[in-house]
This record gives sequence, structure tokens and C-alpha cells, in this order.
Amino acid sequence: MDEIVALAKRRGFIFQSSEIYGGIAGFWDYGPLGAVLKRNVKNAWWRDTVELRDDVVAFDSSIVMHPSGWEASGHVAAFHDVMVDCKTCKHRFRYDHLEDRTHCPDCGSSRSFTEPRNFNLMLKTAIGPMEDTSALAYLRPETAQGIFVNFKNLYHTARTRPPFGIAQIGKSFRNEITPGNFTYRSREFEQAELEYFVPDDGKDMEAFAAWVERRKAWYAAYGIRSERLRFYELRPEERPHYAKAGVDVEYAFPWGWGELESIAHRGTYDLEAHMRLSGKDLRFFDEATKKHETPLLIESSAGVDRTALTFLVDAYERERSVDPNGKQTERIVLRFHPSIAPVQAAVFSLARNKPELVERATAIEQGLRPHLRTQYDEGNIGQLYRRQDEVGTPFCVTVDYETLDDATVTVRERDSMRQERVAADGLQRYLEERT
Ligand code: ATP
Repeated sequence: MDEIVALAKRRGFIFQSSEIYGGIAGFWDYGPLGAVLKRNVKNAWWRDTVELRDDVVAFDSSIVMHPSGWEASGHVAAFHDVMVDCKTCKHRFRYDHLEDRTHCPDCGSSRSFTEPRNFNLMLKTAIGPMEDTSALAYLRPETAQGIFVNFKNLYHTARTRPPFGIAQIGKSFRNEITPGNFTYRSREFEQAELEYFVPDDGKDMEAFAAWVERRKAWYAAYGIRSERLRFYELRPEERPHYAKAGVDVEYAFPWGWGELESIAHRGTYDLEAHMRLSGKDLRFFDEATKKHETPLLIESSAGVDRTALTFLVDAYERERSVDPNGKQTERIVLRFHPSIAPVQAAVFSLARNKPELVERATAIEQGLRPHLRTQYDEGNIGQLYRRQDEVGTPFCVTVDYETLDDATVTVRERDSMRQERVAADGLQRYLEERT
């Protein structure tokens, strides 16, 4: 993990937030490559969950909502973790994360913990000029509630009836007691959530299973190693009392299994909670029963940052090999899927000081730019390959003296390191077919 964190910083994927002031725990900034990686993850999710379906609509709700919404959802009363403080070193821990509850894992003191206390994870803010309790508001700890409180608007404007879904991607905030494991547990993060509403017609478990399968296929399509991914079916005692089924998607991180996404059958719980407190009717008219009914809810809630981190960890490899002269070599390579890779094709000029080569290479790069995510570079080819391997670029294209004679370029593939001579005028097609 340390190697991956170092690479992420060195190559401009992820930086600690406010680093020049000593950082702030649980907050992260995405550099030029990380911002593109995260955008690609979101686009891949959005494409599959919204654009390729005719039964899911897009949504984008505000981060701050009416505080009553968080009362109805149960977040004010019950969205907490249990924490303890070490009286010796003053460090704070999540009680359920402590393996040994008699010794402090940081300073080793024995029996120095305070009594366990509840700690609400919602970040508070104040709205308007008064900072009294009437101004209290929360930064949302999940995007889902924005969908539930808008259900009536969305149902009417979507011009459809359950089964149909509402999807959104957006920032969420949780005042985590112990942020850590790089971006895995942050205090500000993004979620990609789908709320899929179905009628209570006996086919709800089928709909649940279909979403689990769809999400399985998504991770597989983007090449996440199957042996490091598991779909853990929650037992009844592991689910909230109102949930009829639940599957956690987990990845084998270097520190152990960690949740990326949770898929749950939540019954009528969420809409009913908002109907009770708001007094508004959030039911739909069911043509089959000729009655107003509360739809059942199937939710898929994924973390964008955790998924981006998964792509980074899953792609990372320190590869040792023996070169043609019998020398041991080592390279660091990120084996990103071409749709996820921040740069898809890098174009090089073999020499920096040869205007004919530089001009030709930049022209080729600019020609590819409308079709692929590209980058131009020049200089020592060995060093350029090394750099592109480290950021996961699947193809490198080199313009050399031969290019000036016969209009061909060298294309080098990241994983096999195989090189092939390709006609410059067929290059776009060659790369598009392979990305
Ligand atoms: P955990 O048990 O790890 O605290 P959770 O079960 O509370 O997570 P959910 O409420 O189910 O998480 O949130 C859905 C998804 O949002 C998670 O699967 C995860 O990908 C993401 N997520 C939740 N909390 C965080 C966080 N602090 N940092 C980054 N992503 C998060």
C-alpha cells in the first residue's frame, strides 16, 4: 500500500489535502491523472446505470437539505459509531474496529479507554447569518435521501411507473472517527447511487438479483481481478430489520477485505419514513391493484473514491523480468483497463532537437486527440516508456527517422511490451480497436 500511495503522489494521482499546512485528516485532492481516473470511473458507472437503460433517470440534488429530512431518515437519532478515547495518548478509536479492547493500539497503555460513547457522523453547518439552533443544517452523509424526498417530483416528471430507477453521483460527508487506509475511509467522498423502485408484485427479489448480476458484470467488464472481488450475501442478523436482502461488494485490499458497494432490498422503509414526517403522499397509482401503493426499493450504493482506489490497487504491479542480455530488470506498471486509463495513447518524438520529428509527432498526437485521451512527450524512449507504464497508459506511439521515410510508427503495448510497426494513416483505427 505504501508503494501505491507513493506512486499516487509522485505521478499526480492523489495528494493529501492542504499539504502545505500539514494536511487535514480524511480529505484528499485528486491531481491531473487522478481527476481523470475518477471521472472515468463515474462515466463508466453512469453509462451502464443510466445511459444504457430506458428505465433509469438522472438526478442531481443539493448537498444541504431541510434538516427534517435527516430526522425522518433516522440519521439524526441513529447515524453514529461507538467510539472510545485512550486517556493516555488521547487518540480516538472506533470501538468496533479495536481488536484488543484492553490495550491502546497506538501507545500500548492497558485499560486506559474511556467508556464507549455514541458519536454522530453527520457534519454540521449553519445556514444564514444566525449561528443558533434554528440555522442548524447537515452536509449529507449519503446522496440517497435527496432522491427519496423528491420521489413525487421525479415520479411525475419521469412519466413512468415502477419499475423505474433514479440515479445520482455526488459528494457525501461523514465525520469518520478514524479516517484512514488512504482514500478508503475519508470524511468527504463521492457516492454513485441508484434507487430502483418496484411494485410489490412478487417479482421484487428477481429485480434485486438482476441488479446484483448487473453490478457483477460491470466490475468484470472493467477487468477487476475476480479472485480479489467477492459478493457477500448478508445474513438476516447482519441486515437492518426492514431489509429483505443485502449483498456487499468487497475487494481484497492490502489490509484486508473492504466494502466498495452495498446492494440492498430496503422494502418501503425510506419512503414511508418521509411520508410519516412530511405528511405528503409519496405513493404511486398501481394499475394492477387499482390502488395507491408505496413501491419497494432496491438500492445500489457505491463509493466513487473507493472504486477509483480499487482500480489503482488492482492495476498495480511491480514486474520483474530478465532482459535479452540476461540482466534482471524491474518495472512498475498499472494495468488499467483502456476505458479507465487516464491516458490511452502517448505519442513520442524520438529526439527533442529534431524539428521534423517533433512536428510529425505533435501532428499525430493532435490528430488522435478528438478520439482518444492522448499525451505528447519527447526524449529518451526508455524513460518515457517507464513513465507511461507507471501511469497505466496502454499504448505508446513513437515517431522516429523511419517515420519520415515510410510513414510508419512504432506502437508499443503496455502489458506485453510488444512493439509493432503501424502505418501512421491507420493508427487511429488501430488504437480505437484496442482501447
Ligand atoms: P463502512 O462500513 O466502510 O463505514 P458503510 O457501510 O457505512 O461503510 P454505506 O453507508 O453503505 O457505507 O455507503 C455506501 C458506500 O459509500 C460504501 O460502500 C462506500 O463505497 C462509500 N463510503 C461510505 N463511507 C465512506 C467513507 N468514509 N469514505 C469513502 N467512501 C465511503
